Amino acid sequence: MSKLSISTAFDSGAIDVVSVADHHDIQLNIRADNASEFAQWFHFRLQGASGLPVTMRFLNAGKSAYPGGWEGYQAVASYDRDHWFRVPTSYDGKEMTVKFTPIAHSVYLAYFEPYSWERHLDLLGFAASHEDVTIEHLGKTIDGRDMDLLIVGEPAEGKKKVWLIARQHPGETMAEWFVEGFLHRLLDADDPVSRMLLKKCVFYVVPNMNPDGSVRGNLRTNAAGSNLNREWLEPSMEKSPEVYLVRQKMMETGMDLFLDAHGDEALPYNFVAGAEGNPNYSQRLESLENVFKAAWLQTCPDFQTEFGYERDKPGEGNMTIATNWIVKQFDCLAYTIEMPFKDNANLPDEEYGWSSVRSMKLGASVLQPVLAVLDKLR
Ligand code: ZN
Repeated sequence: MSKLSISTAFDSGAIDVVSVADHHDIQLNIRADNASEFAQWFHFRLQGASGLPVTMRFLNAGKSAYPGGWEGYQAVASYDRDHWFRVPTSYDGKEMTVKFTPIAHSVYLAYFEPYSWERHLDLLGFAASHEDVTIEHLGKTIDGRDMDLLIVGEPAEGKKKVWLIARQHPGETMAEWFVEGFLHRLLDADDPVSRMLLKKCVFYVVPNMNPDGSVRGNLRTNAAGSNLNREWLEPSMEKSPEVYLVRQKMMETGMDLFLDAHGDEALPYNFVAGAEGNPNYSQRLESLENVFKAAWLQTCPDFQTEFGYERDKPGEGNMTIATNWIVKQFDCLAYTIEMPFKDNANLPDEEYGWSSVRSMKLGASVLQPVLAVLDKLR
């Protein structure tokens, strides 16, 4: 019998091994972000368990950042790092347990389908090969990675400016899958929605707001331990260069519509969170939100408005969050988009749950509500 082994020495690898001696009782701890307490993301490779019934206990699951995230959650696994499927997972309020029998020598497990830095660079390469796209280098992260901005369309007088950013929280990989689907549709020269949009607006897209956290396998923070979606009021080059650099560019371009893609650990739905807690929230912004939501509901059954976060009370929104800072600064429609780590309970898929492919399709579908609201933005 071959010896069992677990490794994490690759892009976004993260787990602490307590014991890997017995395939009936592999003991693991979820590892915290490199410079903060947040712990939820995991991604590791198990070798030597082909044909063996494996039991993996995540001993500290109940002490993770979002314990509610494990209720009804199924971990994802892959043999080839391309096709990811759900594996039987249970949670007793303290430990999470994954049980299955791998059919290959090597199997990868993760919190959600990873989106690697290599794939990120491939996405930039794909986009840059289109004549409508310019890549701008905004600066560097703490670990020295590039902050890339994609500009889709030719900036011109009268065109609306639409910003889409993703993965401020690096473990929310579905957010970059969302951007990939969005870009593939936007750059499809035969798609009538995209053709109309590119006539009327310029898109500014940051596919990955947190490159360092992504590669380090962090759930929620950058290399300095900053939660980027709490840095928008006063970012700094020391603590949050990613936000500092993107914010600077936003002030240069201006903005008519802002979307910020995320994943939610607990809620099994796709939903949006608006800026109703903002001091300058207005009837105008509310009616823009309603047009956007109605158009998305009508065109994409994976989107819904029944479940989501509790609405902020007037004036009580947290102004360090991107959407709130942007509404204050630009007085424009701004939405945080949340996708599930689990599944969409309205349209569940037992084998895959919410997945990369479904995230991409949702990203493509958001072009429809953008088109619906475009002429009303200003
Ligand atoms: Zn998030």
